[in-house]
Amino acid sequence: MHIPVSRGKHFSIPLTKHTLEVISQPGVKVRSFTLTLSKLSLCIARDTPMIECRSTVGLDRNLRNLTVGNDQQTHHYDLSKCLRIANTTVRIVASFARNDDRIRTAIASMYGQRRTYRTGHILHNATKTIVAVAVQRKTAIVLENIEGIRSLYRKGNGQGRKYRGRMNGWSFGEAQRQIEYKARWVGLPVIRLSRRETRGSSVTCPRCGERLQSDKRLRRKLWCGKCRIVMDRDRVAAVNLARRGRVRFARSRPPILLEAQGRAVEAVKGNPTPTVIPGVDAPKLTPPTKG
Ligand SMILES: [Zn+2]
Repeated sequence: MHIPVSRGKHFSIPLTKHTLEVISQPGVKVRSFTLTLSKLSLCIARDTPMIECRSTVGLDRNLRNLTVGNDQQTHHYDLSKCLRIANTTVRIVASFARNDDRIRTAIASMYGQRRTYRTGHILHNATKTIVAVAVQRKTAIVLENIEGIRSLYRKGNGQGRKYRGRMNGWSFGEAQRQIEYKARWVGLPVIRLSRRETRGSSVTCPRCGERLQSDKRLRRKLWCGKCRIVMDRDRVAAVNLARRGRVRFARSRPPILLEAQGRAVEAVKGNPTPTVIPGVDAPKLTPPTKG
């Protein structure tokens, strides 16, 4: 990269292979750059045509996993165990025995010093895969409204102090934030439900709309008295969110207009999305050269 410093003089900075790859993708433009003593940050933008989606998937998240799916299928992305998720393959983690206390302990131990780094890494892999799969299947991702989620984990709600601590320790918005920006980059619509649309999504039967019953013995399962079936709590939420998102999808035609109210509007063609690559490496600054 050559930066003109004065008439006929350029300051040259070698870019890494990764950076060059990113900025040479079709449609990607470098908008601006910031240069500090040790770092060069490039602000890049891309014109992304919005992907036309046929269906939706809901994203539910809790301490253990991210659950993505709809009535057809749901996948769990285990945040506690999967350190590596292959770039393009979906790893379907079979739901483990949820009433195993050792697992809870193992998860708790993860929230130690390396917490930020490790969860960040796991989360990045998971969100990357979720977006890639959604693009492949042309499904818009539906996110719940998470305002006020912390009030669910307060003293006097029948949860232990340690449990509350862990739940509140989660950065609730992080998974959503990652999915939103990764989706926007590739032009995948994201539907963010309102508080009202989110309400009850984890306790309503996706088949009949009845309020589901929980039972201490069922742990992470819920029971519908009307349909007489036991359902997985995370799956229930994902399916309901997918459906509620689809309702909104159906109301607006063409579907792309739906996003005009949302944040993804920035990704619409002609309105490029600025994305900063944090800390794009400028390994060594070379002295000014004549260019
Ligand atoms: Zn039911």
